[in-house]
Amino acid sequence: MTALTDLHTHSDASDGVLAPAALAAAAAAAGLRAFALTDHDTVDGLAEAEQACAALGVRLVPGIEVSAKWAGNTVHVLGIGIDPAAPSLAAGLAALRAARRARGAKIAEKLIGLGHGEAVARARGTAGRAELTRTHFAAGLVASGACRDTAEAFTRFLGRGRKAFVAGDWPPLEQACTLIAAAGGRASLAHPLRYQLSSGALRRLVGAFRDAGGAALEVVTGRPDPQRIATLANAARAAGLAATAGSDFHAPGAPWSALGALSPLPEDLTDLGAVFA
Ligand code: AMP
Ligand code: MN
Ligand code: MN
Ligand code: MN
Repeated sequence: MTALTDLHTHSDASDGVLAPAALAAAAAAAGLRAFALTDHDTVDGLAEAEQACAALGVRLVPGIEVSAKWAGNTVHVLGIGIDPAAPSLAAGLAALRAARRARGAKIAEKLIGLGHGEAVARARGTAGRAELTRTHFAAGLVASGACRDTAEAFTRFLGRGRKAFVAGDWPPLEQACTLIAAAGGRASLAHPLRYQLSSGALRRLVGAFRDAGGAALEVVTGRPDPQRIATLANAARAAGLAATAGSDFHAPGAPWSALGALSPLPEDLTDLGAVFA
């Protein structure tokens, strides 16, 4: 079940635990030939990853995971094979950073109002130079003893509609796709089944994504689940989209999101990762 390419990973430039160089070393150790670093709304980790990959003989696919809005929902769009130096990226990245920073400040304010100032301080410490994500706030809530684990932090505070939830002011889906295409990347709709949409709404999302120039659906991600893979493969076929497979790796230790631990993509689908293997 170990794949040769993994098109969805995070470093500590966003909410991953490993520094980009350590991620590259872990990818090499996992037997990957190529992987995409797809940090949330930033390309800050790519230069370090590229340098480490060159020394390790692993191919880095420069990527990003862009937060976007569609019909009132937050969705994530992977940009695969972007040029991080593309001049067209700068303005979009600045807007994403500003949206993340503003939302982070509001979440912090809510948590402080709820008496969890220590959790906020710890979240800021964990984030370091990275912009704050909910993963950092969850880590802060656990480290301060306010929550037993990350799951509890999301159920009680950070999940949609919970006490410290703040919706991000993300760009519309179409804009996210344009940003990726203008930087020379292919867009893949990340973990389409994680948005808790009805099947009709999911079909509309996939249609809107394709019409916006989207290239692929992330058909394989997370726990091996033949039924989910079949559902997403059918959605990709129906929309005439290609497919990607990615672990969404954030930290060592979670077996269902280990680097390269991916079920094979159905053979009839075009795998965007095949050209990188
Ligand atoms: P953000 O982009 O700041 O809203 O943070 C989203 C990130 O939080 C995702 O990329 C996941 O890494 C993490 N996340 C979201 N929901 C959960 C959850 N229920 N349990 C653990 N991590 C989660
Ligand atoms: Mn994440
Ligand atoms: Mn995501
Ligand atoms: Mn991700």
